[in-house]
Amino acid sequence: MATKLLLLFAFCRLISIVGLTLNPTDLFRFGLNGQLTTGADNIKFASVDFGKLTSSEPLAVLHPSSASDIAKLLRLAHESASGFAVSARGHGHSINGQSQTSNGVVIQMTGSRNLNNRPVVSDNLMYVDVWGGELWIDVLKSTLKYGLAPKSWTDYLYLSVGGTLSNAGISGQAFNHGPQISNVHEMDVVTGRGDVLTCSMDQNPDLFHAVLGGLGQFGIITRARIALEPSPKMVRWIRVLYSNFSAFTHDQEYLISLHDQPQSQKFDYIEGFVIVDEGLINNWRSSFFSPNNPVKITSLGAGGNVLYCLEITKNYHEGADPEVIDQEVEALLEKLNYIPASMFTTDLPYVDFLDRVHTAELKLRSKGLWEVPHPWLNLFVPKSRIADFDKGVFKGILGNKTSGPILIYPMNKNKWDDRSSVVTPNEDVFYLVALLRSALDNGEETLTLKHLSDENRKIINFCKESNIEVKQYLPHYTTQKEWMDHYGDKWSQISRRKLEFDPRHILATGQRIFEPSFGSDPRSSW
Ligand code: FAD
Repeated sequence: MATKLLLLFAFCRLISIVGLTLNPTDLFRFGLNGQLTTGADNIKFASVDFGKLTSSEPLAVLHPSSASDIAKLLRLAHESASGFAVSARGHGHSINGQSQTSNGVVIQMTGSRNLNNRPVVSDNLMYVDVWGGELWIDVLKSTLKYGLAPKSWTDYLYLSVGGTLSNAGISGQAFNHGPQISNVHEMDVVTGRGDVLTCSMDQNPDLFHAVLGGLGQFGIITRARIALEPSPKMVRWIRVLYSNFSAFTHDQEYLISLHDQPQSQKFDYIEGFVIVDEGLINNWRSSFFSPNNPVKITSLGAGGNVLYCLEITKNYHEGADPEVIDQEVEALLEKLNYIPASMFTTDLPYVDFLDRVHTAELKLRSKGLWEVPHPWLNLFVPKSRIADFDKGVFKGILGNKTSGPILIYPMNKNKWDDRSSVVTPNEDVFYLVALLRSALDNGEETLTLKHLSDENRKIINFCKESNIEVKQYLPHYTTQKEWMDHYGDKWSQISRRKLEFDPRHILATGQRIFEPSFGSDPRSSW
């Protein structure tokens, strides 16, 4: 009886406090052990992201020390009279403010290192349990101590586990292992109701599938159990060039069709990029070609305006016979139709290969070219229309300036679990096309933010007008109608999951999918 009275008292107190005004310091009264701050530096940090296209100031920032801090905050937001938004922020590497909120609390998931949330490797069961705010580079470092590594990657490792699992997490291994979301055994998730639930294919499966690729809409990932494999020691990294788009895509599609073959009869990583005329083959993603000896497209005598670079790797383990590796690579290359004189190849440690973009980041940072606006556009393009996309976009809309790398590589849809919240084109094979632009203010009109943003709009309109059924990856829309179109048949499932796991629309409001069911500024409406 005494306990019931105490609970009732606590509940009434909660309603009375949070039902008036949002004073973030009130949150301390609810026993949040992590550090809640309204300090100007923290607020400023949480109000921007890598894209530098939009900015929203939260009312407070929470540095959680455990999942239970997050649960307390979310329960409070869910049960309070008027509600407030809560957004998890991983490493803030979104483009369009996806981890920002102007009317609530940002939970800074990275950087909260304590004894309870360090990676725990099970070397016999081949998995690692990691905190949702762990960076992939740190996941790698901890698993390498056991000679193990995750199977599926992103090109860049300074992204948080929760951040990439909320999207998909893709790189050149996806054709083989699927995206990162296909390599998760289990998660702990705090839902928008403040419940902490363990979920997997067998336990709370709907939550498990909802959260993977769920854009932060259904819960905050506090722990993920990630599948591991024995870590390769070295990588043979190969790049070859094509002037003929259909030869290029034919070879890429052939190589990904080998996904079910034994490891010795396929490559481990398959990507590619587009190089338009006037561009040097060296850019921040392709420093692989010697920076002292930049290669001009015209010097290859390829003719056309656009070249395509196939990028592939062969992993090998300690003690592997170099002759065997040569033979395996040779046998695979023999089947391809690239420009014969165009091969670049190098061997390097596996870790250096995985961390390659960080090397480029450091160079760009030193030149002040990292902290610039990034109007990126990432599209999944169905295989049947990739040639039309090439004609209309690479050889059309883009002209001969790109202001950043353009990645293009195919993936096998059967490596993606359709029960997740991600949407991909309805074909067995689809391409990622990633236009990774940096806007500069150096007097060149084609590099301005306005020019690049207009170009993105033109590309999307071109796809619409040509009935190329692309799906945005790392999607960004501003109206619910656009989100409904994006999700298509999946929209009813997404809405149902939202109602179940975050009925007050508290979570990840920066994605702008669901209108919060509370006032836009809790300082005035509470
Ligand atoms: P944030 O930007 O902090 O958050 C993104 C979204 O996830 C937000 O809605 C946020 O609320 C939500 N979120 C964050 N943490 C959690 C959590 N623990 N639980 C639930 N929701 C959460 N992507 C690829 O797939 N492949 C690549 O190769 C790749 N390369 C990239 C390279 C660079 C340089 C950059 C800037 C981005 C790249 N990305 C790539 C995109 C990247 O995966 C996404 O932007 C991802 O969201 C970034 O992770 P983050 O930790 O910075 O997330």
